[in-house]
Amino acid sequence: APRVAVKTEILVIGAGQAGLSSAYHLKRRGLAPGKGFIVLDRNPEPGGAWQHRWPSLTLSTVNRIHDLPGMKFTDAIGTTAETVKASVAVPQYFAAYEKEFGLPVYRPVEVKVVCERDGRLRVETDRGLFSTRGLINATGTWETPYIPDYPGKDRFKGRQLHTRDYNTADEFVGQHVLIVGGGISAIQLLNEISGVTTTTWVTRREPQFRDGPFDEDAGRNAVAMVEARVRAGLPPTSVVSVTGLPVTPAIEAMRARGVLNRLPMFAEIVEDGVRWEDGTHIRADVILWCTGFRSSLDHLAPLMLREAGGGITMAGRLATQVARDPRIHLVGYGPSASTIGANRAGSAAAAELMAYLDLEPAGQV
Ligand code: FAD
Repeated sequence: APRVAVKTEILVIGAGQAGLSSAYHLKRRGLAPGKGFIVLDRNPEPGGAWQHRWPSLTLSTVNRIHDLPGMKFTDAIGTTAETVKASVAVPQYFAAYEKEFGLPVYRPVEVKVVCERDGRLRVETDRGLFSTRGLINATGTWETPYIPDYPGKDRFKGRQLHTRDYNTADEFVGQHVLIVGGGISAIQLLNEISGVTTTTWVTRREPQFRDGPFDEDAGRNAVAMVEARVRAGLPPTSVVSVTGLPVTPAIEAMRARGVLNRLPMFAEIVEDGVRWEDGTHIRADVILWCTGFRSSLDHLAPLMLREAGGGITMAGRLATQVARDPRIHLVGYGPSASTIGANRAGSAAAAELMAYLDLEPAGQV
């Protein structure tokens, strides 16, 4: 039997930093929650991907979580204690935020596929059909862990896991752990695991450590580089990969302990470890892939937004608008894949999409 779709003007997929910022700005610009816009999120609770972060990621070990527009983190949580788990504090903050601004978030609802239907966008979910004129996609990267392909990975008899599966270092006691990756997560997990067992650290490129405090200019340049890539239709790179790794006291201590001795990538995985081209072999019980994430965009495949090279050409003030289909904005994608970038992208996407769909209420600029 034909199913009737719930109709809305703008549909937001994802209730993380990027989706909530977008929803806040849609409402502020006069769009009615419900008929005007709704937010769908596949997670059971508020908090976006933060609800899944490992327990030792606390407010002191995250880089920095920027406040969402209109409400301070500390006002919602009532604490600045640095030892509080990010996986607890951020979900509390997002829950308070959704409530304060009356944001229409429906969960758990998983969007399976978005396609074209009679001049509108048809959104198929595990909880029924939706139909919308415009789409703000804010699905993040957590659902799409990336593991590079190395020969022999199916031969390995030990355990392989990704950053996303990490819980606590204690489960590796007595095992030799090989950690792959040169980003912030790799270093944090190397730090924790090397405190309880032996480790080997492997990265594709020589890690770029940066002395001194975070340099705003370097940050801006990194974002500008990623923005230029997506405007040219190239796949984005991670913002962190271009800013370098800040030398923190934790990193100094790791150097002193001798655990920051990085090896180049191995050539192949064997039954009991890994092997380099020159025959060098290291035994490992565990391979931990801290090799990052990709944007979770598979549900948009039928819309054919990608160029031949695999990227999506982006346009608009902050490069959130899909050039091939201006009814669609990607926020928290590419240059806006950070908490501050997601805030700004949500504002730009809400304004541009409402203007494009002629939804600006009279009198509002
Ligand atoms: P998410 O928070 O991932 O939210 C996306 C939401 O969309 C999720 O709730 C998900 O369930 C939902 N979703 C996905 N697919 C679907 C679907 N098909 N249907 C319905 N819902 C769907 N950035 C910083 O600025 N500072 C930091 O300190 C920092 N620390 C980080 C630490 C780690 C370990 C990681 C992995 C990232 C970190 N980042 C940090 C990056 C940061 O998390 C992101 O840029 C930002 O929080 C992502 O927000 P988002 O809204 O784009 O995505």
